Amino acid sequence: FGALEREDPEIAEVVLGELDRQRGGLQLIASENFTSPAVLAALGSTLTNKYAEGYPGRRYYGGCAEVDRAEELAIDRAKELFGADHANVQPHSGSAANMAAYAALIQPGDTVLAMDLPHGGHLTHGSRVNFSGKWFHPVGYTVRRDTELIDYDEVRDLALAHRPKLIVCGATAYPRLIDFKVFRDIADEVGAYLMVDAAHFIGLVAGRAAPSPVAHADVVCCTTHKVLRGPRGGMILCREELAARIDKAVFPFTQGGPMMHTIAAKAVALREAALPDFQSYAHQVVKNSQALAAGLASEGMRPVSGGTDTHLALLDLRDTGVSGRDAEARCERAHINLNKNAIPYDPEKPMTASGIRVGSPAVTTQGMREGEMRQIAGLIAAATRADPASVTGAAALRDVADEVSALARRFPAYAQVGV
Ligand code: PLP
Repeated sequence: FGALEREDPEIAEVVLGELDRQRGGLQLIASENFTSPAVLAALGSTLTNKYAEGYPGRRYYGGCAEVDRAEELAIDRAKELFGADHANVQPHSGSAANMAAYAALIQPGDTVLAMDLPHGGHLTHGSRVNFSGKWFHPVGYTVRRDTELIDYDEVRDLALAHRPKLIVCGATAYPRLIDFKVFRDIADEVGAYLMVDAAHFIGLVAGRAAPSPVAHADVVCCTTHKVLRGPRGGMILCREELAARIDKAVFPFTQGGPMMHTIAAKAVALREAALPDFQSYAHQVVKNSQALAAGLASEGMRPVSGGTDTHLALLDLRDTGVSGRDAEARCERAHINLNKNAIPYDPEKPMTASGIRVGSPAVTTQGMREGEMRQIAGLIAAATRADPASVTGAAALRDVADEVSALARRFPAYAQVGV
């Protein structure tokens, strides 16, 4: 870091400022976490200098012996941890992994049945502003109005009516477990591939805190930077028969040179995720999000679907009279980072939204437990109720910010990092 401070003080200031921001507040964005110092060390290594198009043992460049070892370790650890026949650890992101999976399995114009974005799906599941909606024919399934759970009957009806080539399950804002077996049966009934987008919950699978989709899916796509606590990136797991197609779809179809520093960091994270401590972590992540959801419920925020089985909860704020957008902004003033989120059948526009999404991965990495989650629920509620335009509201937000700082100091992130 000394070199960065000397060479580029402006960027050094950004790095320090961001470290302070991450340490000084509460990070409740469900897709974020604190990677370990070992993961950061691999990311900041000279492996970033190496071109290595191709795969271990068959590269288009010389000098790949060392990076081959890194990629082989990442592949072996992923296969072992998830019981998969094949792993591709090169996708630059979750979206890149999804694009490669589509490219491997289907053709432009084919029908894809996936969860509707306003019901919790991801942009890559058929949004019109994304490749998935432009190049394929998307059909969206929803959650039921009464239970706010995936409507499996509707999924089957839509599959029978539209005969998709690919069915996608896995979401961005769905707090419940998904029944992969039901999806598998529906896919088999209509002769479709099943892709599970496990971006959000693969870390819970690694920690044995959620069921694994691997045995049910043709392809499992994921990110490595959410609950899994690795570097920003993607990964694909699949059955042996699809291995060559997946590999070709990642390189050369959708990507060029792999990011070898990131792949090494993925290997580090996968090793960490295989340790017993990670299982305790993943189970605590779920207990914490349940405690957070229950705490927020007692503050008048309704957990969508009644609660959560995962690392995230979605809260309907309509009874508080505050929009998701305002709650997000007020919480941010008190150094609580969370995001506004549409709730199922949301009457508001997405940029306003009636809900918020909260996640426990980062605060659990800091060592917080259920008691702190109850405290955090009170802080979120107090910040949400505080209108910054009023004198009392602004004062209340300052009080919440003070309590947030004190709590964050008790559970310091990166206490051991010397920058
Ligand atoms: N799939 C799902 C379900 C996600 O939630 C996300 C990101 O939040 C992605 C894919 C894309 O990951 P990335 O942001 O790394 O492209």
